[in-house]
Amino acid sequence: MSYTKEILASAERQYADQPEFLQAMREVLESLEPVIAKNEEEYKKEALLERLIVPDRVVMFRVPWVDDQGNARVNTGYRVQFNNAIGPYKGGLRLHPSVNLSVIKFLGFEQIFKNSLTGLPIGGGKGGSDFDPKGKSDREVMAFCQSFMAELWKYVGADRDVPAGDIGTGAREIGYLFGMYKKLNGNFEGVLTGKGLTYGGSLARKEATGYGLLYLTEELLKTHGQKLAGKTVVVSGAGNVAIYAVEKAQQLGAKVVTVSDSNGWIYDPDGIDLAALKEIKEVKRARIKEYLSYRPNAVYTEGKGVWSVKCDVALPCATQNELLLDDAKALVANGVTAVCEGANMPTSIEATKYLQANGVLFVPGKAANAGGVATSALEMSQNSERLSWSFEEVDAKLKTIMVGIFRNIDAAAKRYGMDGNYVAGANIAGFEKVANAMLAQGVC
Ligand code: GLU
Repeated sequence: MSYTKEILASAERQYADQPEFLQAMREVLESLEPVIAKNEEEYKKEALLERLIVPDRVVMFRVPWVDDQGNARVNTGYRVQFNNAIGPYKGGLRLHPSVNLSVIKFLGFEQIFKNSLTGLPIGGGKGGSDFDPKGKSDREVMAFCQSFMAELWKYVGADRDVPAGDIGTGAREIGYLFGMYKKLNGNFEGVLTGKGLTYGGSLARKEATGYGLLYLTEELLKTHGQKLAGKTVVVSGAGNVAIYAVEKAQQLGAKVVTVSDSNGWIYDPDGIDLAALKEIKEVKRARIKEYLSYRPNAVYTEGKGVWSVKCDVALPCATQNELLLDDAKALVANGVTAVCEGANMPTSIEATKYLQANGVLFVPGKAANAGGVATSALEMSQNSERLSWSFEEVDAKLKTIMVGIFRNIDAAAKRYGMDGNYVAGANIAGFEKVANAMLAQGVC
């Protein structure tokens, strides 16, 4: 049995209770097999894979807070510091009822390779809580965030671990978390990214994940002799990634016809009204069903369904495992050309394999959505030099990074004889840098 298979088999036994983490590990390790086979003796001697799949540490803690009725409530907080071989731990905080150790470990594991692909000096980490900000008052969200940081502050820092946003964590939450960190630690430092513009945030950070996704998609299509202009695009989700994916897709001349949330989805044959979408989600914090009051010609359907809509390009921007085998079949039957992931691991392994086998250009989240964390790293640079760059400067850097990521994963896939397999390309290119740094730093 190969070293990779051995590690995977023992992980399957050890982490049977962590399905999302296992899924992320399977996807990465399977495609790394040829790379690892080339260096099998050295990697095995150094226990490189064993060290890669066990986080440096996991912090789990109680988060007590008081709701508006005066009742004490308790959530569980997590921070997984996975790997800091190439830079301080970096990754978002997810606030969603589905959060558990498996979800945070899968996200942290993905983040190692994603952050490496950005070419910037950031390690992999992730955190969050099963707290649900939906339907909570600002005061309740603040109470939660302050309690969360009252524990987390001991483990983070501008040169140590720099959390950021993710599902459920936006500018409001980052503000409350930053305020509490500063109060406890006393330092005004870039301990979080995605900060407000008045206290060290970066222009274009809010837009970065969605914009970056489209910069990469455009480069992918260009490489295959096509362009985004005139294409029909299906987007899932209606959060920060989806909103700015819609915006950039429209700026590049595509027509986006869907968005969704966890209750249902919108089909707008005339193209999504971006101003309405922003007002519903960013101002009112309402459900996507509200869109109908802005655009009566649109159709709202309860449940899942965006992948049944005929399109050229599909951009899953909601959450993990939202695009399954049957969805992939529907997309292929409708003639989809490209699927690029705005969310983390939205496509199941079976669905990914089906898309690739049917000639669909597929780029995984760790490459396609890396623009968010890349711009977070640019925010860290600005904080370190105590300067703020213009929107244009950050956006131009983001574009260069996304084009660079695509070229890098394309080249890595070709180097191993897997031309066009961007899953393998992303895993290989992301892994090589981290493995190299880990080996250079010795067994630690
Ligand atoms: N949560 C985002 C991600 O999945 C951004 C992380 C960050 O900016 O640190 O990459």
